Amino acid sequence: MTLSSHAYRLLEAFEQPACPICRLTLDSVHHYLDSTIYEYVNKPATHEAVRAARGFCPTHAWHIQNHINASALGVAVLYEGVIRHMLNDMGRVGADGGKRQVTRAAAALQPKGPCPACTHQAIVEEHLLRNLLEHLEHDTFTGAFSRSAGICLPHLRQALELPGLIRAKAHLLAIQQDIWSRLQFDLSEFMRKYDYNSAHETMGVEADSPRRTIEQLSGSSGIR
Ligand SMILES: [Zn+2]
Ligand SMILES: [Zn+2]
Repeated sequence: MTLSSHAYRLLEAFEQPACPICRLTLDSVHHYLDSTIYEYVNKPATHEAVRAARGFCPTHAWHIQNHINASALGVAVLYEGVIRHMLNDMGRVGADGGKRQVTRAAAALQPKGPCPACTHQAIVEEHLLRNLLEHLEHDTFTGAFSRSAGICLPHLRQALELPGLIRAKAHLLAIQQDIWSRLQFDLSEFMRKYDYNSAHETMGVEADSPRRTIEQLSGSSGIR
């Protein structure tokens, strides 16, 4: 069995800290947002989707603000349209307005579609998880995954929700249980060495186990 390009990227991500699905997804979403912000001029479909969503979701809007360089003009162009359409759809509400005006405005504030970056993210996550499951027959791939930080709980749940692939899912769960057993051991070592009786013992791999546990149970920072 040969490895797909997704599987090669997973193989590289296995050697890095934290969930490999989170890592590759965050990378892909970053590039998606970067190109969305720079290529806004020729993408009426992008304008349409961002307007329908009433802007990107908080996670992705703040990603643009904090991590996409020189994003201000792109944000101005996209979001001017969001505000203009939202005001138009709300209709003018007078200070002495009645129920009809309030109801129409309230309905117009609701998103009419999902955050386009969340849609992109969901597609990437599904591709990566499917590739992870489909390559667990591959010894080199599986060995590298077993030595990795493992996938986070939200991504494990998502993998198990994919249709079919029961054998691969059992294999994934077995590997993940080994990874979490090692993590549990690291946490108990951390607690033991933290105790003043063991203060002379220096911390080893367990030193960052509390942080690794948060990453495993919640996913990497910025993914949700
Ligand atoms: Zn993850
Ligand atoms: Zn989003």
